[in-house]
Amino acid sequence: MGQERVQFFDTTLRDGEQSPGCSMHTTEKLRMARQLETLGVDILEAGFAIASEGDAAAIHTIASEVRGPQIASLSRARKEDIEAAARALEPARSSRIHIFLASSDIHLEYKLKITREQALEQADAAVRLAAQLVDTVEFSPEDATRTDVDFLCKIVGVAVNAGATVINLPDTVGYTIPQEYAALFRTLRQRVPGMEKVTLSCHCHDDLGMAVANSLAAIEAGARQVECTINGIGERAGNGALEEIAAAMHVRADKFPFTHGLHLEQLYPTSQLLSRTISYGPSPNKAIVGSNAFAHEAGIHQHGVLSNPLCYEIITPAAVGVPSNRMVLGKHSGRHALAHRLTELGHSLDRDALEEVYQRFIHLADRKKAVYDQDLLALLAPMPAAQT
Ligand code: MN
Repeated sequence: MGQERVQFFDTTLRDGEQSPGCSMHTTEKLRMARQLETLGVDILEAGFAIASEGDAAAIHTIASEVRGPQIASLSRARKEDIEAAARALEPARSSRIHIFLASSDIHLEYKLKITREQALEQADAAVRLAAQLVDTVEFSPEDATRTDVDFLCKIVGVAVNAGATVINLPDTVGYTIPQEYAALFRTLRQRVPGMEKVTLSCHCHDDLGMAVANSLAAIEAGARQVECTINGIGERAGNGALEEIAAAMHVRADKFPFTHGLHLEQLYPTSQLLSRTISYGPSPNKAIVGSNAFAHEAGIHQHGVLSNPLCYEIITPAAVGVPSNRMVLGKHSGRHALAHRLTELGHSLDRDALEEVYQRFIHLADRKKAVYDQDLLALLAPMPAAQT
């Protein structure tokens, strides 16, 4: 038997897009969707059709033009939502309606103002209707991680009976921790009849900084779909970052023996395209795609990386599409990195000349945060007599 596959469900254009500073026009969404297709995502959630005409139009355009991934629309468990989603998805090669319905008591009582019994009825009717209209129906009991587990099993059982073949257990508010989230997946698999025919999915938020850890815990516990976004954008603190989950599965393939459809060298280009499209990019220290993720300034680290990158890098920049590791020259740098950069700039110096330039370099670096190529070239120029 071959390795099991983990499907990547990208929601950059839905959960990501609905967060502040991240809204995109149809043309921008289409450009991102094409890049996500190149990246190799399995399912592309293109929007929330009932939310606005613009969202519906963007889903329709993406469904017409992007033929690789299955295209999904979010939908509440309501007839008009489901019909709007189905209309938007009509041109898709393969279509999915992603129905969500709150299952936690706090959401049922204060937000939806319905009883548990009414929630079960709504879930049943909504999934049955959607199953007649699209290829795949996914059901998400919203706020699953704060839902009474008996009721969670009950509502998931109803959705599976009604025709949902993907069950997502969203950590809507970023509340869970890895061991607890993993246990939830195991419980559902054990207690809900028919789960062997269902793909379990995780969807995590980063309110406590654990979205990626929780996603990986869910995969270990049987999730075979992971919902995530590029650069981790999404509601509040964001969603699990696709590039981090993918890189973790790659670097720690010993712990995650699964196949997937992603081309990892497209991670950085996809992150860059998103950064240019919305109003902000990843922080410099962001894993995998941040500008410092493969940068080294400390001399010992620079010497090590130049000798063998694996001394201080667990994954090569090239593997995730980052052009090359960035040696930042500053006061922490040593002679090795300076000589390396000077050689790249076309100046191979002998030992004495290098030492002389190095002393000038350290003097400059003490006053400047980073030393750029033009500074180095200036250091090479003969110094005026008054300053020697
Ligand atoms: Mn979400």
